[in-house]
Amino acid sequence: MQVLNLFLFVAEAIVYFTIMAAFLHFRRQLGLGVFLAALGVMHFMETYLAAVFYVELPFGLVSPGSSVFFAGKLMMILLLYLKEDASTVRQPIYGLFLGNLLTVLIAQILQAHPVVTLPAGRPADMVFLNEMGSLMVWGTALLYIDAIAIILLYERFGRIFRRHIILRFAVSGAIVLSFDQLAFYSGLRLLFDAPLSVLFGGWYAKMLAVIIYSVLLLAYLKVEQIPRLALSRREIADIFHDLTFRERYQALLATSGVDRLTGVFDRNRLEADAPAMIKQSIDMRQQLSLVIIDADRFKDVNDLFGHMKGDEVLKDVAAQLKARTRPRDHLSRFGGEEFVLILPNTNHEGALALSERLRQDICASVIRPDGKCITVSLGVATTSDDGDTFATLFGVADQRLYHAKKDGRDNVHGRQGRLVSPTGVDV
Ligand code: GH3
Ligand code: MG
Ligand code: MG
Repeated sequence: MQVLNLFLFVAEAIVYFTIMAAFLHFRRQLGLGVFLAALGVMHFMETYLAAVFYVELPFGLVSPGSSVFFAGKLMMILLLYLKEDASTVRQPIYGLFLGNLLTVLIAQILQAHPVVTLPAGRPADMVFLNEMGSLMVWGTALLYIDAIAIILLYERFGRIFRRHIILRFAVSGAIVLSFDQLAFYSGLRLLFDAPLSVLFGGWYAKMLAVIIYSVLLLAYLKVEQIPRLALSRREIADIFHDLTFRERYQALLATSGVDRLTGVFDRNRLEADAPAMIKQSIDMRQQLSLVIIDADRFKDVNDLFGHMKGDEVLKDVAAQLKARTRPRDHLSRFGGEEFVLILPNTNHEGALALSERLRQDICASVIRPDGKCITVSLGVATTSDDGDTFATLFGVADQRLYHAKKDGRDNVHGRQGRLVSPTGVDV
């Protein structure tokens, strides 16, 4: 009887793998939705079996649901990743996760029904609905971790045994399913005081499933080569960000803090980033400078040549500033024709020298339609003498900008007032 069960166990794995791999293989013709929907349906089947269907194998009592089909699903997720990429595979990962939570929620509502006995005398299965509770939530959370972990492990092992896809596939599967078995058993133990034999029986079955799937994958690779992902060079952290949608979040951050007209950061982004930059430079015992740059008599540009031309000039000024700063400097448009530049690891003299270059370069390259150059006035402040918070640094730089304006514009003001060369002549 056990041998028959074992034979059927293997047969289930082969049928599952063959059909699912075929859906995946023909995804261009069928559409990936066929594979994904089948994965979801099989997921429900697996949950159901794990609750109600157990068979005896030579190494213990196991449910094909939590071994053949659960292991199979993780292997399919990994296979999808091999054939597509992280941003595709995260869709079923999140779909299964969120769908499971929805199942749990609906099972809770269903249990509130006053139910009737079915015509054939079968009672409504309240026990099953009830099981879709805390254990299901735990299983769902584990599935989410497993799915991400199996991909990251596969990539990690790529650094060690590069070309051995099958080995990577098998070892990642074995580790993740061992972890899963241990973690899921802990839940069973806590809730139902499950005996240790459940832990080991299930574990053997999962390892057997991994072996069967690895052999099947080997056979599949004979038919179809997957050369691409054998040699992924991406950083693990990058893949993780893709898998968890964090790259979307970061892209959102990267675009939401950008000024639409000039493409440099906007004021919100400045206020979000500046305190951390200042704190970091203080922690590293480095000086940081803040420069405010304000276009001179900009109202005249608008009045004489129109707002459209004014906008273009602002774009040019921003582009000049951007081109002359380092990647780690932080350039933002604070308001109308006013820009703020934060310079990490830059002392006061360095910031004054850069400011002076910026002043000269802008006048040399940003020209009004009437041939006159656009000039700017700049105020400079530096940690820690001028302050060590964003508010104080900004206040001091703003004061100096005000003096620069009063001093005839088109100049740089720092700690010593107007910037002059060592010879006493304006630089
Ligand atoms: P000052 O030398 O004292 O700085 O003179 P200013 O004319 O540059 O100063 P003020 O701050 O009085 O005027 C700034 C002008 O910038 C007012 C506004 O018409 C113009 N401005 C602000 N934002 C924009 C913008 O997005 N596009 C255009 N074209 N003009 C803008
Ligand atoms: Mg101005
Ligand atoms: Mg202004």
